[in-house]
Amino acid sequence: MPLVSSKEWMLKAQKEKFGIGAFNANNMEFVEAIIEVAEEEKSPVIIQVSQGAIKYAGLEMATEMVKAAAALASVPVVLHLDHGTDYLQNVRCLRAGFTSLMFDGSALSFEDNVKMTAKITEMSHACNIPVEAELGKVLQIGDNNSAETIEKAMTQSEEAVKFVAATKIDSLAVAIGSVHAMKDRTAKLDIPRLKKIRSVIDIPLVLHGSSGVDPESIKEGIANGLCKINVATQLSVSFVKAIGEAYNKNPNEKDMRKILLPGKNAVKDRVREYMGYFGCKGKGIITGAKSGIQSSEIKHHE
Ligand SMILES: [Zn+2]
Repeated sequence: MPLVSSKEWMLKAQKEKFGIGAFNANNMEFVEAIIEVAEEEKSPVIIQVSQGAIKYAGLEMATEMVKAAAALASVPVVLHLDHGTDYLQNVRCLRAGFTSLMFDGSALSFEDNVKMTAKITEMSHACNIPVEAELGKVLQIGDNNSAETIEKAMTQSEEAVKFVAATKIDSLAVAIGSVHAMKDRTAKLDIPRLKKIRSVIDIPLVLHGSSGVDPESIKEGIANGLCKINVATQLSVSFVKAIGEAYNKNPNEKDMRKILLPGKNAVKDRVREYMGYFGCKGKGIITGAKSGIQSSEIKHHE
């Protein structure tokens, strides 16, 4: 199927109380791994590409790889810009064919964040493409992450109401206790804060930094209004570990595919595990859609 907009699928997730996995991809193995699992589990899926991934793969390759893989899938696939930090990056991604955008103005003052987000939403809505924005700040590992700093950076519900009304965004990334790039799944979400935000905001809510959150806490978050769950670090760590092990097992291997395929399979296992927490399996069935996806194989002498 061609790429789909995140809008209707996130509204469906909100209504039916499941989460859609938004998995970061940087290369072909990740794109294939994520879409193959979505197909096998009949789940909608969001592939997201960060500005770093665009620098790494190039905008054209990043876009076309996802389009090509999505075209073979029978389940809905969204291509989303993760943490676009400027207006022109959003314009370039819109033109390239992204079906969901994000502006991250969390480093700006509230007023400047509103101004820039509203400008991007106006431009993007002219092409019917939805926009996610962030209010409060999901910190990075390595920032000064004391309990006080994390709490200080969290989303305030009164401010969120003003922000959503002034910007007309389609989904809101909330800071409720997660931290970007954590490897250990130990963080717990501030569920009372999430409930408070949910009670005053009616658009879908997004969780960033989910790799470091206890899966039970993620499930509770989904039950309380989170609709899009971003996962990057856990996939990357699984990939690196598996290719390291494959290499160590056979350092004389000449066929790079035999080193990379275990990495891809490790990413598939992680995506499947997360989809289990999100409750999205079986939610992406589209009547009449056909799949042309085949899992990678390595045969001798090919
Ligand atoms: Zn993020």
